[in-house]
Amino acid sequence: MIVESRLYEKINGKIQCKTCAHYCKLKSGGRGICRIRKNTDGKLMVENYALVSSIYPDPIEKKPLYHFKPGTRVLSLGGVSCNFRCDHCQNYSISFADTDFHGIREIPPETAVNMIGEYGCSGIAFTYNEPSIWHEYAEDCMKPAKKSGYYTVYVTNGYLSEESINTISSILDASNVDVKAFNEKFYREICGGKLEKVLEAVEIMHRKGIFLELTYLVIPGKNDSPEEIREFARWVAGIDPSIPVHFSRFHPDYKLMDVPPTPIQTLEQAHDIAKEEGIDYVYLGNVYGHRYEKTYCRNCGEMVIERRGFDVVANLLKGDRCPFCGEKNNVVP
Ligand code: SF4
Repeated sequence: MIVESRLYEKINGKIQCKTCAHYCKLKSGGRGICRIRKNTDGKLMVENYALVSSIYPDPIEKKPLYHFKPGTRVLSLGGVSCNFRCDHCQNYSISFADTDFHGIREIPPETAVNMIGEYGCSGIAFTYNEPSIWHEYAEDCMKPAKKSGYYTVYVTNGYLSEESINTISSILDASNVDVKAFNEKFYREICGGKLEKVLEAVEIMHRKGIFLELTYLVIPGKNDSPEEIREFARWVAGIDPSIPVHFSRFHPDYKLMDVPPTPIQTLEQAHDIAKEEGIDYVYLGNVYGHRYEKTYCRNCGEMVIERRGFDVVANLLKGDRCPFCGEKNNVVP
């Protein structure tokens, strides 16, 4: 379905899209980096509205969000295309696809919102591919979802424009943002973006009160030096040390097939560095059964949420309070 974009302006005969941090300028007939926004006769048209490539009732832990509504299920929707071109994309079959993708179907917002309850979920997430380029559809789903008492989630690469964050901040409850590295070279060469834009977006989202968790996929030889991890952790601690951080294990994918999986020791070292820098909650992802899948109280260190993979085995918290010392932990129950 094709609709008009809500975030653009006309400048000197061109159109500037303000949906994501690329701020593409499109001449007549031109498309943006995401390929699904096009200047058609002086209007910015969006070609992916309500076109869904994937839909599952996932555990919220899979996003990963470990501190937001733990143990609930979230109706997770993905579309097609992306505003990045990551060499290691783990969802490249949809991120590099266009609207003629073989499995695509149209799910209008009211249908999607009805499906949240039908699937036994407590909220809706825009995930699998980059949600910011699906802005209009996500907005039209989140508004009625919130009115119906559901929560809303973005799993994003953080390449959101300030205009887009301002538009959705009152209807977006939580987000996991991928910080893919802490160096501009990686973003420029591997993703096709700028780190500084991601950092700006995270800081704005935090100021706007969106609940945040961050994921850092640790790739051997690309973004895994202790110095880079420490810089990342310092930046997080400077915003808010209670933001949960997930260091995720890399598995070879797409164009990075020649890079080996991340050694567990490297992940554990990243964990220790982040703790040294004062981050309260640090997790390892894609390492089934590891002790750092669990949540430990930031005050007394006792285990308060036990997980195995994406399953919550036991949640001992009393609301957001530690049952052992009474500390208020950064958890939205
Ligand atoms: S959504 Fe981003 S990538 Fe797509 S046209 Fe707009 S600014 Fe460009």
